[in-house]
Order: sequence, then structure tokens, then C-alpha cells
Amino acid sequence: MTAIGPKKVALIHYILTDDDGGTIDSSRNSDPMPYLHGEGNIVPGLEAGLAGKVAGDRVKVVVAPEDGYGPKTAAKAQAIPLAAFEGATPKKGMPVTAEDDDGNSMQLWVVDVTDSEVMITPNHPLAGVTLHFEVEIMEVRDATDSELEHGHAHPGDGHHH
Ligand code: ZN
Repeated sequence: MTAIGPKKVALIHYILTDDDGGTIDSSRNSDPMPYLHGEGNIVPGLEAGLAGKVAGDRVKVVVAPEDGYGPKTAAKAQAIPLAAFEGATPKKGMPVTAEDDDGNSMQLWVVDVTDSEVMITPNHPLAGVTLHFEVEIMEVRDATDSELEHGHAHPGDGHHH
């Protein structure tokens, strides 16, 4: 049986809960999620927990914030005028890509939206959260050339695109 590892695509169903058992996310109401192993498509702690698994395996993986979406930093949320979004509709929890003074792109997150301002923070909404994954591995297959080239999985047999 093909095991999950580098250059393999795994299709997984997952339920993600927090420390209190509250559901954060689940794939159960849709198709299993495909990911290309070893390319950072999923958080490092989950990727490590799935290495070597085969189709049919069910795994529980607990991921500390350091191996998940990072620790929560003390960075204060910053207010950006809503007008700066040029007609886009920012929503709470939405990722925003910004550039720093050196032109490096940074990932920021919307924490609040008012009539005139958008509050953004460098903390991912799940920063500081211990992630409890319950995963069922549905399928493991070789990645296609285009998937390896792109660094992510493609739906179905990987030949779309
Ligand atoms: Zn692609």
C-alpha cells in the first residue's frame, strides 16, 4: 500500500476541534481534502502526524500552536481605513496580504470591521490554539508532475489544470 510521504498526494477527511471539543472546521460535509505531502500545504504538526499512514487509517493528531498556526503574539491590531480596501468587503477572519516598507509581503488577518475602519493583526485566527485533528485517510497516490511543479495537490486524479 502506498504510504504518505514526499511526492505523495493524500486525500483526507478531518474534523478539527479545540481544547474544549468545539468544532473549528470539518471536511465531512464536502469532498475529502487533497494535499501534497512535504510542501507545507497543511500545518507542520499535522503533516508530521500523517507521514507513513495508508488509506483506511484513522489518526488523532494533537498539534501545539508552535507546529500549527503559531503562538499568539502581543502585536496590537491596527486600524486601516475601509476606503483602502477599494471596494472589497473585508470580513472578520479574512486573510489580507500587505507589503512592508521593504516590499516584503506579509500575511495579516481581519479581526474586526466597522463602518469606516478595518482592524488587522499579524495573528492567524488560530494562533495560540492547540489543534485536535481526527483524520481518516481516504486515498494515497503518487503526485503528478504538474502537482510537484506547483507544490500543491490538484483535485481528482491530479491531471486537471
Ligand atoms: Zn496547480
